[in-house]
Amino acid sequence: MNKLDTALVASALQDAGFELTESVKEADVVLINTCSVRRHAEQRVFSHLGHLKHIKKSRPDMMVGVIGCMAQRLGEELLNHDAVDFVCGPAQISQIAELIANDTQRKHKKPAITERIREKLTEEQNRALDDFECAYGIADRQIPGQAYVRVMRGCDNFCSYCVVPYVRGPEVSRPPAAVIEQIKKLAEAGIKQVTLLGQKVNAYKYIAGEKIYSLADLLAAASSINGIEWLKFVTSYPTEEFFDDILQAMAASPKVCSYLHIPAQSGSDKILRAMNRHYTAGEYLELLDEARKIVPDIAVAGDFIVGFPGETEEDFQATIDLIEKTRYKNCFIFKYSPRPGTTADKKLADTVPLQVKKRRNTELLAVQERISDELSREFLGKEVKVLVKGLSKKPHLNTAADRDNPQLLGRTAGDWIVVFNGPTSLTGKFVSVKITKTAPLTLFGELI
Ligand code: SAM
Ligand code: SF4
Repeated sequence: MNKLDTALVASALQDAGFELTESVKEADVVLINTCSVRRHAEQRVFSHLGHLKHIKKSRPDMMVGVIGCMAQRLGEELLNHDAVDFVCGPAQISQIAELIANDTQRKHKKPAITERIREKLTEEQNRALDDFECAYGIADRQIPGQAYVRVMRGCDNFCSYCVVPYVRGPEVSRPPAAVIEQIKKLAEAGIKQVTLLGQKVNAYKYIAGEKIYSLADLLAAASSINGIEWLKFVTSYPTEEFFDDILQAMAASPKVCSYLHIPAQSGSDKILRAMNRHYTAGEYLELLDEARKIVPDIAVAGDFIVGFPGETEEDFQATIDLIEKTRYKNCFIFKYSPRPGTTADKKLADTVPLQVKKRRNTELLAVQERISDELSREFLGKEVKVLVKGLSKKPHLNTAADRDNPQLLGRTAGDWIVVFNGPTSLTGKFVSVKITKTAPLTLFGELI
């Protein structure tokens, strides 16, 4: 979501006559796009701001803006920071060029955020956001050949630990016609993979008269667009609503990638209840069984939070048991971070000590690593189709000596990372790679 917002803002500013620079030293305007999901992410922003405050001493004309979820959450408090000139929330990003151009903003120091974040946006506000999205819903320059398309904004789920509903506002599904039009434009611009985004993307629901459009309808319509070869969607919420339809759409279209990112968050029913997740571990497993029945080769990824208030060793063991059964391709594990304003923070003390959270995090990662290792080995000797992202992250393997054949990185339809050598001209294209070696999260191979 944030990568998409960054790309939209960068495009809008370039349209308004700005140029992008990689160096803070050259920049007239510095924007920090922010995340509030965990405290650590917010702390890093403050440390960047400390650095910028220092630079501003010698360059007082440099403007600094904080955009995104932290801007919405902290508003005035951020504006009072010595380094900050303006603050712009997620619902105001369509005004970003104006905000920068508007000098009075600096004098008046008023944050551009939504005052009553849980109130539904007006039709006009929704349209402004949608127009912005459509105008700049172009290729995300960070990943050649790929683009993100938001299909839903906000969230109404109120998981007790989560700040998202308080910073991104109520759940809204975008009109299907706008989404499909945008994907067509992306295809014309050479985009091959589109990832549809929503906090609970499988709950996408747009009512037009008698017709209810679901994510399955979007996937079917997007599959018929020439040029689009892969469709992915994140993040799914474990609910039966629309679940079968979406999996049937996956099974029916070779373009819909057999990949599901479906966080469980915990394996303990007691903790799931306290998290306000509306399923039990058993129901979650049943959904995965159903998914594997309909799409046998489906790759599944998950998220977990360890050290949620009240999580005992027994609860944690239930999470380990769940991971053993689900056999995720990979999962993201987070230490519980209390977020101001959330129900968990208001009602439950952060009882699990940091040391225990760290230990559980490491233990869970080790279990997942073993499973990922077992699953990755199944690829040995096989050929996989890969969409090439670009140079791998190992700069020492991309030196002058390897200029014509550096180490490249891409992903399969099931989201496995594949590393191989080849010319950089393959970036943004599909290739076939024969897997010769595996690691828990990475497949290594040779270009065919
Ligand atoms: N909407 C998605 C869902 O329901 O799974 C994910 C949204 S959240 C931005 C991404 C992940 O961050 C969550 O799946 C959860 O594991 C983690 N997360 C959210 N709030 C957290 C918190 N307070 N502390 C630790 N991890 C958190
Ligand atoms: Fe947060 Fe839950 Fe909404 Fe995901 S579904 S964004 S975890 S409140």
